Amino acid sequence: MKKVTSVLLAGALLGGALAGCSSDGSKEGSGGKEPKIGVAIYKFDDTFMTGVRNSIKENAKGIASVDIVDSLNSQPTQNDKVDLFISKKSDALLINPVDRTAAGVIIDKAKAADTPVVFLNREPLPEDMKKWDKVYYVGAKAEESGTMSGELIVDYWKAHPEADKNGDGVLQYVMLMGEPGHQDAELRTKYSVEAIVNAGIKVEKVAEDSGMWDRVKGQEKMAAFLGSHGDKIEAVLANNDDMALGAIEALKAAGYFKGDKVMPVVGVDATAPALEALKDGTMLGTVLNDAVNQGKASVKLASLLANGETPTKDNAGFDITDNQYIWISYKKITKDNMDDAK
Ligand code: BGC
Ligand code: CA
Repeated sequence: MKKVTSVLLAGALLGGALAGCSSDGSKEGSGGKEPKIGVAIYKFDDTFMTGVRNSIKENAKGIASVDIVDSLNSQPTQNDKVDLFISKKSDALLINPVDRTAAGVIIDKAKAADTPVVFLNREPLPEDMKKWDKVYYVGAKAEESGTMSGELIVDYWKAHPEADKNGDGVLQYVMLMGEPGHQDAELRTKYSVEAIVNAGIKVEKVAEDSGMWDRVKGQEKMAAFLGSHGDKIEAVLANNDDMALGAIEALKAAGYFKGDKVMPVVGVDATAPALEALKDGTMLGTVLNDAVNQGKASVKLASLLANGETPTKDNAGFDITDNQYIWISYKKITKDNMDDAK
């Protein structure tokens, strides 16, 4: 028995010495001093969230030991991960919910264990945020990105009278939406069209469908739109860059971006492949969704809470709104100011 115990103990010590490795090698050596933060991402296979995840890892250095797990786009899987973090005595949780309406359940679990929780990118409902004062949200105002992407189309339309292909004075557009229920999908869709209408431009929605934030799905949906509406389409609005890039592939296959066959396509995020598309002229514009600062703010907030501190502008380095929110600004990006997004 004694032998077994010492073997276990040696194993535990070795485990401690090797703190530096975890599921994705993201645990930073801490010597036991840094707080432990359990991080669950809705799914690793998401371009934008990969940027946020990298920023969390980078900005955790020296302030926290982060254990980052993949929820595989399944809320039950994420709930299990949360249970595990709580049972492993994480000092704080940093959660990118699969389903934002499930935040309430996570808050209940966290509160019962007195483990503060920071949500990011998928905003919990206001009534859930009110359940506990040790609950925070880091994100960006979806309305803002919607308005900006609509403005990109407005500028283009005004500068290019030939963009009105059928000359009817109306902008015929298609919309590629993100995941239903996601605040960014709902609000970007609404506010982008509103910005165009507010600029005095008449619009006609030719088609709208969800591409689930996904490049391949964006391509498939755009191919279907082109199949049924072809040249009637005068602009493509996508709720994110991956779907915009998919749409560009479908447009290329239909002969666009050669000679005078053009199409204004806008996205949101300003990911690296989107910046390439801006450079080669296939994407008209995008909106910087600041993954670096969202990752930085959320891990900083979680580490303060884990240490029992009350986050303020001074210690967090970001404005805190209504005691629970950090909002990171968006920025309009075109070929002309691409460097601002790098
Ligand atoms: C991003 C999308 C991403 C989604 C994930 C959005 O803010 O714009 O690219 O897929 O968040 O929740
Ligand atoms: Ca027209």
